[in-house]
Amino acid sequence: FDAMNLSQTIAAIATPPGVGGIGVIRISGSLSSSILKSIFQPAHSSLFDIWPPQAYKLIRGKIVDPQTSAVKDDVLAVFMPGPGTYTGEDVVEIQGHGGPVVLGAVLETVLSQGARLAEPGEFTRRAFLNGRMDLSQAEAVVDLIHARTSQAAKTAATHVGGGLKNQVKGILESIMECRAHVEAALDFSEDAGDGETESILAKLDQGVIPPLRELAEAAELGKAYMEGLKAAIVGRPNVGKSSLMNALAGQERSIVTETPGATRDVVREPVLIRGLHFTLSDTAGMRTSSDAVEMIGIQRAKDAMGESDLIILVVEAGSDLSPEDQELLRQAERSCNRVLMVYNKLDLHPGFNPSPLGDYTPVAVSAKTGQGLEGLRQAMEKALRQGRELDAAPGIIPNLRQKGALEDALQSAAHARDRILEEAWELAAFDMEEAQKSLEQILGIGVSPDILDRIFSYFCIGK
Ligand code: GDP
Ligand code: ZN
Repeated sequence: FDAMNLSQTIAAIATPPGVGGIGVIRISGSLSSSILKSIFQPAHSSLFDIWPPQAYKLIRGKIVDPQTSAVKDDVLAVFMPGPGTYTGEDVVEIQGHGGPVVLGAVLETVLSQGARLAEPGEFTRRAFLNGRMDLSQAEAVVDLIHARTSQAAKTAATHVGGGLKNQVKGILESIMECRAHVEAALDFSEDAGDGETESILAKLDQGVIPPLRELAEAAELGKAYMEGLKAAIVGRPNVGKSSLMNALAGQERSIVTETPGATRDVVREPVLIRGLHFTLSDTAGMRTSSDAVEMIGIQRAKDAMGESDLIILVVEAGSDLSPEDQELLRQAERSCNRVLMVYNKLDLHPGFNPSPLGDYTPVAVSAKTGQGLEGLRQAMEKALRQGRELDAAPGIIPNLRQKGALEDALQSAAHARDRILEEAWELAAFDMEEAQKSLEQILGIGVSPDILDRIFSYFCIGK
């Protein structure tokens, strides 16, 4: 992408490929209106007595090739003068018949008059470069178009509307205030009294660090909301993993058997638990085996643990953890930061009450009778929400790139806080500047062209 190209007028078919009722060709740039003038024959010529034509008024007419006078299509055209347009430039939209050949012919005529074909996402990229939207809004445009759930569309729409931008701007203001104070302290380091230090810290502890952390957490949580969690059910053979999976999924799916080691592959099952998505995987029992097929299953189980967001470790009720269970627990903890302990077969050990184990509050269930399953569902929900109370899904959910920027900013702000405590003003000023720069990336300030290329490569041509 070449910034020089910005001065050129671009055009593209904005409607999806294929056949439709109408198709739209979009033109943006300084030549927009003159291109329209040279290829458009209005049905009522008096409308063209004024030029450029009246803004935002649909005019009916024909697209005619100026060289050959061949009529390409009967259309409606509208002229929208910049800077109050999507791109911030003069924009023309031509509504023609929605067939690929006829639209292609109109586009060709437009291009023959000095426009060039737009790159994917170039209209939105121009909107960003011309200050019509910040990068968080531009990114959300593509999310909105590609949203596959109403929750995803809602979040994207909030971001397009500037929801994230406004929050980030608020935090940036606090950072800049802190920076100003830190820099003042740097200049008069002899005089920086305790009162000054405390007021800077107070600002950091209110307006900077907590909101940064909240947004970063919302990103984490949002991912779980949108995509659900992958939960692996693991445990020794015969503890009831398959039975538990069936009980949670509410159907007979994986093989339940009296013979240990029967679930030889990984069985996956999408389930909705308390309105949240989980993909359960029932894995082969973990133990050493001489059976080659079973060994493959065990390896897959280990892989499944590694890929999981949540591990449900199943053990038998009625007794303490066996050394094998303890080894499994260690393995689970190594592969995942969310682990649930479940004692199964509670029906065989009525009254069994597992005691808390380190950080764990084990859940006792019976896959057979369904006893305790509601408690397990609650624990799964809590694991997904990471202990946060959230009835409504968060409306503002930063994406991965934004999450990275938030975490960088958070880290710098936390460093700055330590420096301020030490009254190391110069280092504190540096860290505050870093925090600011990281956060500005979300708005697109100081973002490299490479990153912009990557972001806009997800767009289609014509958006
Ligand atoms: P896996 O090898 O861990 O997948 O265990 P399975 O789900 O195949 O179950 C092994 C055996 O334990 C089967 O005979 C099940 O019927 C039995 N079982 C599983 N869950 C329970 C339970 O909650 N109570 C009782 N009594 N038996 C169970
Ligand atoms: Zn099984």
